[in-house]
Parts: sequence; C-alpha cells; structure tokens
Amino acid sequence: METFVYDFSEAADLGRELLGGKGAGLAEMTAIGIPVPAGFTVTTEASVEYMRNSRALPARLEEEIAAHLERLEEATGKRFGDSEDPLLVSVRSGAAVSMPGMMDTILNLGLNDESVEGLARATGNERFAYDAYRRLIQMYGNVVDGADPHAFEQALGELKRERGVNDDVELSADDLRELVESFRRIYRERAGSDFPQDPREQLQRAVRAVFDSWDTPRAQVYRRANGIPDDLGTAVNVVQMVFGNNGDESGTGVAFTRDPSTGEQGLWGEFLTNAQGEDVVAGIRTPLPLAEMKERLPEAFDQLVETMRRLEEHYREMQDIEFTIENGRLYLLQTRSGKRTAPAALRIAVDMVEEGLISKEEAVARIDPRQLNQLLHPMIDPKADYEVAAKGLNASPGAATGKIVLDADAAEDRGKAGEDVILVRWETTPDDIHGFLEARGILTAQGGMTSHAAVVARGMGKPCVAGCEGLTIDVGRQKISLGGRELSAGDVITIDGGTGEVIVGEVNLVPPQINEDFERLLTWADEFRTLKVRANADTPQDAVKAREFGAQGIGLCRTEHMFMAEDRLPIVRAMIMASGADERREALARLLPHQQEDFEGIFEAMAGLPVTIRLLDPPLHEFLPPLDEAESPEMARRIRALRESNPMLGTRGCRLGLLFPEIYEMQVRAIVRAARAVQERTGEAPLVEIMHPLVAFAEELRRLRELTVRTAAEEGDVEYLCGTMIELPRACLRADEIAAHADFFSFGTNDLTQTTLGFSRDDAEGKFLTHYLDDRILTANPFETLDTSGVGDLMQTAVERARGAKPDIKLGICGEHGGDPASVAFCHDLGLAYVSCSPYRVPLARLAAAQAALKQAGVSSVQVGG
Ligand code: ADP
Ligand code: MG
Ligand code: MG
Repeated sequence: METFVYDFSEAADLGRELLGGKGAGLAEMTAIGIPVPAGFTVTTEASVEYMRNSRALPARLEEEIAAHLERLEEATGKRFGDSEDPLLVSVRSGAAVSMPGMMDTILNLGLNDESVEGLARATGNERFAYDAYRRLIQMYGNVVDGADPHAFEQALGELKRERGVNDDVELSADDLRELVESFRRIYRERAGSDFPQDPREQLQRAVRAVFDSWDTPRAQVYRRANGIPDDLGTAVNVVQMVFGNNGDESGTGVAFTRDPSTGEQGLWGEFLTNAQGEDVVAGIRTPLPLAEMKERLPEAFDQLVETMRRLEEHYREMQDIEFTIENGRLYLLQTRSGKRTAPAALRIAVDMVEEGLISKEEAVARIDPRQLNQLLHPMIDPKADYEVAAKGLNASPGAATGKIVLDADAAEDRGKAGEDVILVRWETTPDDIHGFLEARGILTAQGGMTSHAAVVARGMGKPCVAGCEGLTIDVGRQKISLGGRELSAGDVITIDGGTGEVIVGEVNLVPPQINEDFERLLTWADEFRTLKVRANADTPQDAVKAREFGAQGIGLCRTEHMFMAEDRLPIVRAMIMASGADERREALARLLPHQQEDFEGIFEAMAGLPVTIRLLDPPLHEFLPPLDEAESPEMARRIRALRESNPMLGTRGCRLGLLFPEIYEMQVRAIVRAARAVQERTGEAPLVEIMHPLVAFAEELRRLRELTVRTAAEEGDVEYLCGTMIELPRACLRADEIAAHADFFSFGTNDLTQTTLGFSRDDAEGKFLTHYLDDRILTANPFETLDTSGVGDLMQTAVERARGAKPDIKLGICGEHGGDPASVAFCHDLGLAYVSCSPYRVPLARLAAAQAALKQAGVSSVQVGG
C-alpha cells in the first residue's frame, strides 16, 4: 500500500519527484544534522491522486496525517490545538520543479481565539502572539478562501497611520489585538463564515488549498511557459513553527552561499530582526545586509556561516537558503540550488573545481548552454533603468541601439557613413542582405524564430527582434508606431534580441563577455567532447569570427550571399536573363573572379581546417526584384516565367546545376582556382569540400560528381572532397545508393524538417505552429529543436544505410539545429563527426557536445534553481 506522508527524518533518500524540492531539501538537511524544525511531507503522489479523484482526498490520507501529527507532537513536546502552549505549524507547498510565487504558504497554523492567549502566556509575549495570529488569518484567508491580500494590507496600513507609526514592529500588543478583530471581519466578509477555530479543520483545508493551487490558471500558464508537465503535482510540507518575530534576539533572512550576480565567494544575503516569513522580501521594512548580523546576533551568525559551508560541501553547488533565528538559535527552512547570472554560473563552476569541491567534468556538465548565449553578445546593462515600448520574439541575441531606418538601401548608406542604424521592416527578404550587413540590429513586425530576418541575423550574430506585435510601419510617411507611440525614421531605439524587448531611445550596453572563466570552461569542454564543431560562415569575416570562437572548420558556406552583394547582383541578373547557354556563360565568366576572391578569403581564414562550400541553392527568382520593380519588359517576363507556386519545392538546389550546368561549373572553377591561389601564396593546401544541395536521387549526384571532377580536372589538380546535403526524406532512405557517389554527407535539417513534416517553415511559424505549441500538440518548435523521433529517425536510417555502403563516409549536420543543445546531443548519439552552426553559437555547441559525451559516460548535470 502506498504511503502518502513521511517525516523529514525518514525521507532523505526519497527524492524530489516524490517530496517536491522543498521537502527533499528539508529531509536531506535533517539527515546531515543541520538544524531544521521537525515536520513531515505529504507527497506529490497524494496530490496527483487528489486531482485524479476529482478533488477527493485519498482514503487514509487524513489518518496518515493525524499519525504524523501525533509524532510531531511527541517530538516537540507540544500539542496541536492546545489552549496553553500550542504546537503551531506552517503548511507549505513545494513542487518538484520550482514555480516561484505560484503556490502558497500559511504560517502559524493551529492558532485560534483561545490558544493565542495561551501562546501569549507561554512566551510571555502578547505582542508576538497576536502578530502570529493576524498573520495566520491573513494567509489562511488568502490561500484557502481566496481573500484579497490587499484588504488585509490596507487594514494594517490604516492602523499604522492612526497610530502614527511606520513600522509593523512599533504596533503594540493592543494594536495587534485590534488588528486581529479587523482581519476576522475581512475574513468573514469573504468566506461567509467565521475564521475556523478547529486546528484540524484548518490543517485539512490548508492541505486541500495547496493541492488546488496546482491547478490555478496562473500555475497552468506558468507551467506552459516553462515547459513543466501538468501531472507532477505538488507536495505539502507541514513544519513546526519557529519564531523569528519573538523579539530582538530573533529574526529571519535569506542568503546565497555565493554572490549570485558575480559568483564571487562571500556572504550574500539579507535579514531582519523580530520578523517572520516573507517580511524580508516583502519590502515592508528595509532588511539589513547579512554582514550586520555578525554584530547583532554573533552566535547565530557563526552558526549560519558554518551551515552554509556544510551545505555547499553536501550539495557541491551554490545554495539559496531561507533561515530563521528564534531566541538566538538558527533554523534552516529551505535550501535549493541558487539561480545565478551567466557570469556567476561560470565563476562558481571554475572556483569549485579549484576548491576541489567538484571535478572538471561536473563543472562542464552543470552549465546551461542556453544561459551562456547572452554572454556572446552585447547586452543591456543589467543596472540600466528603462521602459519597454513593445515586445517581439527574441530572434537573435544581443542588444543594439541605433536610428530607425526603413529600407535596406538606407541602412547600407547610413551604416557605411558610420551611423548606428536599426533596420526596421515589416519582414525581410534576401534582397535586404546588404542592409543587414551595415545595420546594428534588425526589428521586424512579422515572422517567427526562423523567419528570414531571424535566420540571417543569427547567422551574422546581429541582434534581431522579430514578429513585434506592437509595431506598425508606414514607409511612405517614414513613420513607425511602436506600442502606440509614433516615431520617425532617424529616431533612436534600442532592441534586445535576447529578450525581445524594444525600447524608445538609448540604453547603456555592456560588451560581450568571453572572459577567463568562460575560456577555461570551454577548454575543459574540448577535452571531453568527441563531436567536432564547425561553423556556418559565408564570408571571410564570419570565418575569422568562427575561428575565434573555436570552430574547427566551416560546415556550410552558402554561395548565394555572395551573389547578393551590390556589385554582383546585376551580373547575376544578367546571367538569369540570358537567352541561352552562351550568353549565360559570358555573365558567369564575369562572376567567377568575385567568387574566387571570396573563396580565397575564406580558405585563408580557415587555413588548416576544412571548408564545405555548397553550390548554388535558392530558386533563381530570389535574385530578381519583385515584379512591379522589374527593370525592363524582358525582366518582367522572366520574373513571370520563373514564378513557382512552391518555390521551396521547385527549381532549386542541384536541380539548378542539372538544368544550367554552366552555373555549377563556374562555381567549381572558382573554388579550384581559389584553392590553388591560396596554396601558392601560403604553401598550405586548403581542405576543400564541395557540396551539392537538395539531392534526392543517386543519379543526380552521379552526374554532378562527374561535372565536378571534370571541371576541377580542367583547372589543374587540387585535392577536394565531393559530397551532398541530405535534406530530403528520399535521400535518407536511399542513402546507400547516394553514398556511392559521395565522400561526405551533411544533414540539412532545415529542409529535412520542412519536407519530412510537410511544414513550410515560413507558413508554419506565427501561424499554425504557434497554435500547436500553445495547445501542446507539439512541445518544441521542430525548426529549433530537432524532431528526433521523426526527422531523427530518418537521419538514423540514413546513417546506417550510408555506413553500410561506405563505412568511412564522413557525416555531419549543418542545419540551424547544429547550435541547439538538445539537437547537438542527438547528433552525438548518432555518431556524427561534426555539427555546424552559426559562429556565435560555436561556444555553446562545444559545451553541448561535451555534455553529451559526459552524459554518455554517466556524468549528469545538476539542475539549478529547483
Ligand atoms: P516560498 O516557497 O514562497 O518561499 P515558503 O514555504 O518557503 O514559501 O515559506 C516562506 C517563508 O516562511 C520561509 O522562508 C520562512 O521564512 C517562513 N516559514 C515557513 N515555514 C516556517 C516555519 N515552520 N517556521 C518559521 N518560518 C517559516
Ligand atoms: Mg515566497
Ligand atoms: Mg521559501
């Protein structure tokens, strides 16, 4: 038969799933001899049962609670409901995952009109007894009967005004007696009955209320927002009260064992004397820094310091604690891993390795890669004070300040002239690239996390807020409206792509912080990982950045961005407009030197490391202007002719190379010439990998490989690999046949996700996919986190079949997923050779790859903040 209740002293090994975080902490502290008031935990399973049974308490639960209450009475020598010296308890919720402020706590439970007098006599402190009672009525009224907390606060405020005092502690016993009367009145108005005098009724209803709090709308919303399952339930902790409000030798406080914003060692916390519960954080009285406790309560202070040391030694992790001092004696009421900033997380991990508390493996395993993201970009100064005008999606991290510009040309002109500009668009297209390059950041009104703006901005490491709902744009009048405020082009705004916030005016920014701690941790990570990390980079500048961040090569160099540059687009258009192959060759011949120059720059930046160059991929119409901007009637005709209803499934990828072989021939020539030139100049041969996109049939790759080999041979001899993207389901299924013509495969998981799921990325995000996520049909955006069971299954098949046909084939991934920690872990498990992601995500991928390797070896991460 299941047990639903455990004493703290018997529960140390039962774990947080069953006991909740708070209960597990109390039991563990009890077990290692840290002073904790006695008490017991009603398990999360009891609350799950309760919900399952349409809110009926499980049979036996009341009996079990009664039995444990009896033991608590024995342990404390006091009786619950005793009219002379009553046992009082707190009833505290505590789920397995922390849900701050979502559920509630009641203190001083067990008091009634009679025992409050007994408590006053027993402690010789009438003021204290009535303070405890008024708190109980307030908290119970609020938690159990949904009474408005402000009604109580107001009554307290009025009384203080009447008495002419500022501070609760200045109210006398008689004042508090009076306050209890008002509180009882407020309670009665709300609950329709008197405050319950039977302590057992109080306890039973309090337990129910905590169970019910799991299903309040705000708790549901919070869980949804934080990806917490709905069926975990919450535990309830019943804890003997210790009193911090019993005079000046008593107090209550909160502390971190290290500074949560810098990670530095030393005391960090606040306390109040003669106070209870949440007084410290409630802001009614100004709390004192912990250092002052040394003066006021020296013995308890020494005990606290020693306790913090022991807690760190036990948990081997920075702790966030809540404590109370009753007549000079210290009690711990809560401990959990402390939330911390990203720099603090790094500092603490590195320090703890040095202190011998944890191993390097553990240090690497416990850093959350997502949290580090903010350190790789400029951020808004944490101390800055500002008002958010509108919010959008946090599409690409980093913050930027600049003047509003409404088109890419203006962004380019003014950016080149040295001005800081933010490109503000309804949404962006490949035509806007030149504006991206010169803008500090990008803000769009439309589009999701993988909209054009978001993907390109992440690739470039530029801050981007996408899909900003409060934004409307009037290009004609050169005005925008931001959260209802009208602004003109040229006005200054600040965007934070890490949070999605948009602010009018300038805000102070702080630079990226790849500090010493970060470097050290990454160096350790590199020792543990087996998966290589490459970057997706299209320009020599990106390649340099990628290398700085530790990239071990380029996994995807897209050639289309090179086609977009201002000086090349006219030639590209001439090439597309060409009436036949000869005319096309002539235009391509003019493009070739440009491509070659780009490749040379990239090869040099990546000397000694492999560079995978993908031949032209996007549908040609992307290089032409919109129809109404056609430069000539012929161009208009050509635009119409190239129009496709599903361009992403149309004439693109290797289909271009097969239809217009001269295009790929030119690109292969440019690659080979660049490789030769660099080798001559530097004496070192670049490691070249030529990649064909969107292959579905082995025959496609057979022909293209033949084209590649023939063309390269015409240009002289260089070494290179020839391979393909695997980005169509058919290619996964026929990977064995395709492998026969490939030296390597690179999974293009963006397209593979689109084609496997039948989701058009541009139509999914912001539309039905948002609904799918809100409604929990899907738990993660498959364009951000690899759909491992569907797309991943195809990848698995591809890997097995490819290796079956060609055991030493090199396998990697170059979709957006290469920078997503969960997806990186999947790639590790799949045994890929490398992941490739945008340069700014390389450090995160290095860390995630190490964590995947460590996890496989049995070193697990520690959940922070629980
Ligand atoms: P939360 O989860 O909101 O922090 P808690 O259950 O931790 O709520 O309770 C809030 C505060 O109430 C604690 O930090 C502590 O100061 C006080 N408290 C709770 N139980 C007791 C108790 N048994 N004795 C004294 N103070 C208590
Ligand atoms: Mg709280
Ligand atoms: Mg707490």
